[in-house]
Amino acid sequence: MNSNYIDFEFDRQHIWHPYTSMTEALPVFGVSSASGCELTLNDGRVLIDGTSSWWACVHGYSQPKILQAMEKQLQQVSHVMFGGITHRPAVELARKLVEMTCPRLTKVFFADSGSVAVEVAMKMALQYWQGRQQPGKQQILTIKHGYHGDTFAAMSVCDPEGGMHTMFGDAVTPRLFAPAPHYGFTQPLTDSERDKITQIFAEHHQQLAAIILEPIMQGAGAMNFYPPAYLQLIRQLCDQFDVLLIADEIATGFGRTGKLFACEHAEVEPDIMCLGKALTGGHISLAATLCSDEVANGISASPAGVFMHGPTFMGNPLACAAANASLSLLADTDWQAQVDAIEAHLQQHLAPARKLAAVKDVRVLGAVGVIELHQAVNTAKLQQAFVELGVWIRPFGHVIYIMPPYIISQTQLTTLTDAMLKVTEMLSIAPMAPGSFCHG
Ligand SMILES: *Cc1c(COP(=O)(O)O)cnc(C)c1O
Repeated sequence: MNSNYIDFEFDRQHIWHPYTSMTEALPVFGVSSASGCELTLNDGRVLIDGTSSWWACVHGYSQPKILQAMEKQLQQVSHVMFGGITHRPAVELARKLVEMTCPRLTKVFFADSGSVAVEVAMKMALQYWQGRQQPGKQQILTIKHGYHGDTFAAMSVCDPEGGMHTMFGDAVTPRLFAPAPHYGFTQPLTDSERDKITQIFAEHHQQLAAIILEPIMQGAGAMNFYPPAYLQLIRQLCDQFDVLLIADEIATGFGRTGKLFACEHAEVEPDIMCLGKALTGGHISLAATLCSDEVANGISASPAGVFMHGPTFMGNPLACAAANASLSLLADTDWQAQVDAIEAHLQQHLAPARKLAAVKDVRVLGAVGVIELHQAVNTAKLQQAFVELGVWIRPFGHVIYIMPPYIISQTQLTTLTDAMLKVTEMLSIAPMAPGSFCHG
């Protein structure tokens, strides 16, 4: 049998893909290998990648230095429990993370996925206030249009309308939602926005343990950017009303928005920060939750006396080794210049979409380019159209966007932006009925 053979029929009948039905399966494409910015399909077609596989593969696929580090780690130990044991890859990674993030963040909790890192952050906030003798502070505030993951606590702070609240009803803990900040990175904050969020803090601070948000860029919930002034205001309100600030940098971390961490756009230091996605350069799953000394000390003073979390695969050495190699690459390459070049390219090449009938807005920040449409997209159909154009781009909701690997060439980038324009033109001439719900 050809080693590139994939049993699509078996896949269709037995395997869940993200957000899919087992009775009305959507088409999937078979990938046989990937390297750099290219995915090779099992039928031999090669696609230029515009997704970094959900924003994780910032250095491209099969990055030789990351693979080498993983191979070396495999020879030593691929996994060992973290209870009562430590190892060099974890210590090295924690040191790197403490050094590269803001001074306030000093303690590192390793988790296995972004959603778990968010659960951990929320539990930290709750235990912190128990330790500070304010057990009434157990509610979490967030902003609409957010996305923080698919597990129950993470789901509770996702957008209440676009998300899954309505489907799971009372099983999802009710949270406090502030309006989403006004669109636009460069747009000024309005007085009414300022008043509204201030009022929420003033009214609810006695119950509020923390506010969780995605700094500057709301990803999977909206693909929106918002002004640094908003984040500064949130920090100020957190200080004024004794509320912890949790920055979910799982999508924005490691350079994606043009700063190493998006909080840096506002020069704001969170009390707790979640990292994931690009942490290992997208080569294997790993996430982390960082917190301040103050938060760690509060947790340690709580009735439990310890932080109540510890996953089986916590601090997995193979994943830590991949992350160490990825962070070394970031340090050794001029990612800033790469991201700036992508930003300039996207600004220029996506601008023509502004005058197309189907288009509501075009926005770019760092290595993120977004075309927002008036109508919801049919992900499956557009996916097919993009593959025919030789690119891997996966639209969702109302947006067609790309977040390519930082190493992408100008030529490859042009192939991606041309495809985005072509598909958007097609939709402007012949609008398409939206398809069933599709995950970004
Ligand atoms: C992807 C994402 C998550 C969830 O991460 P998983 O690894 O999919 O669990 C959480 N927060 C943000 C901002 C994300 O983009």
